[in-house]
Amino acid sequence: MPATDRRPQGYPPPVSGDPEEPEHPERAAVAALADDFVAGLREWLAIPSIGVDPAHHGDVHASARWLAEALRRDGWPDVRVWDSGPALPAVYACLPAEDPAAPTVLVYGHHDVQPVDPVEQWRHPPFDPTLVGEELFGRGASDDKGQVAMHLLGVRAHLAATGADRPAVTLKLFVEGEEESGSPHLTRLLDEHRDDLACDLVVFTDTPLYSRDAPTVCTGQRGVYGAEVVLTGGASDVHSGRAGGSVPNPATAAARLVAALHDDDGRVRLRDFYADVVEPTDAERADYAELPFDEDVWLANSGGAQALAGEPGWSTLERVWVRPTAEVNGISGGYTGPGLKTIVPASASVKLSFRLVPDQRPERVADALREFVAAHTPPGLRAEVVARGDGVPPYAVDVSHPAVGAVRDAVEIAFDQPVRFSRTGGSGPAALLHGWLGVPVVYLGATLPDDRIHAPNERVVVPLLLRGAEAAAHLWRLLPGRLS
Ligand SMILES: [Zn+2]
Repeated sequence: MPATDRRPQGYPPPVSGDPEEPEHPERAAVAALADDFVAGLREWLAIPSIGVDPAHHGDVHASARWLAEALRRDGWPDVRVWDSGPALPAVYACLPAEDPAAPTVLVYGHHDVQPVDPVEQWRHPPFDPTLVGEELFGRGASDDKGQVAMHLLGVRAHLAATGADRPAVTLKLFVEGEEESGSPHLTRLLDEHRDDLACDLVVFTDTPLYSRDAPTVCTGQRGVYGAEVVLTGGASDVHSGRAGGSVPNPATAAARLVAALHDDDGRVRLRDFYADVVEPTDAERADYAELPFDEDVWLANSGGAQALAGEPGWSTLERVWVRPTAEVNGISGGYTGPGLKTIVPASASVKLSFRLVPDQRPERVADALREFVAAHTPPGLRAEVVARGDGVPPYAVDVSHPAVGAVRDAVEIAFDQPVRFSRTGGSGPAALLHGWLGVPVVYLGATLPDDRIHAPNERVVVPLLLRGAEAAAHLWRLLPGRLS
């Protein structure tokens, strides 16, 4: 179906021919504000708000103040920096709708950024944002300051396009400062500010499009649970000639445990691991199958892997988006230095992470893992499972929800082409927001999977952010008619 068929009734028809002439008032408004947008984003990206590094916590505060000032400059009447608790500062703002009966939308994002090591691999200093052609390089350009700034621009474009002082929906912005640290105080913020954050819909802005040529609307993220299994025998390593063959070897037990984790088809063998898995709809699978997929590119972007692997019956995208996994992240034990050392090691350890899909629960996987480890620990060894936090639950929105349709229409109008659904294999606090606020979470992002987030030379493609801002502006106009 061509994109134009999805345009709402009464929407101005596209002006074909002159590429300089904008089709929509929203597009014209974004274009008029584009230079100002890039200048502002560069200012913000210059603040090294590395949340995981205590030496940069002052910068996280400076980043929050920068965002609060930008919102005030844009005319948001209620702007607050939440910095009283143990959490690094979050920014909250509210811009009420013209119509008090209009729906309320909460836009979620984050302003903390990842560390920059190895810094010598950056072509431009990570906090000296550099524009090269259409790409803006800098830590946080894509994850997530660029996308938060995109929303500020989207609101300005919405107001300019409609000529109103107030938006068509009540807009709330919630930009946390601890996402890259695993959002350790997010539930506390949600609890303390429950009334401020009350809304009818969350727009989650921390996910990419599928590709530049195939923009998509993300509808879900996997969850994650991680743990280390430590197997211990004696109090110290012992000579393999004196004791070997007479006592259990923790490294052998660790290898057997890892080998038992999957069956021959690659399915995870924890008890009831698949019992709660909700499969995607046929329509979603059809959408995934229509997305362009290049195996060589996928392998190159997967660390130069030599072949695809995974669960039979599912495509590569499905294996990453809608199927759960168990991965061995690391395995260690005994002597690993040069040459040989003939010992029976005292201990061995395996680091594991599980990516989860709806409706798996991290706590149920944690229980099943403990049971699995106990069943695979031979007599004479002690096993300990050390969880890395509580895990992150998965989330997916019902694609038949009218708000999802509104996002898809908004993105189709902005990108001038049909748009399909996608998901991402990574994790984020969408399920937490859904659980605490009791409303659906939809996704609006305009970055790319190869933006090198968390890596050297992070960048964002500026024209895509501008399209994303336009999509947001369309969304605010479309939503009141869809959610009523
Ligand atoms: Zn992020």
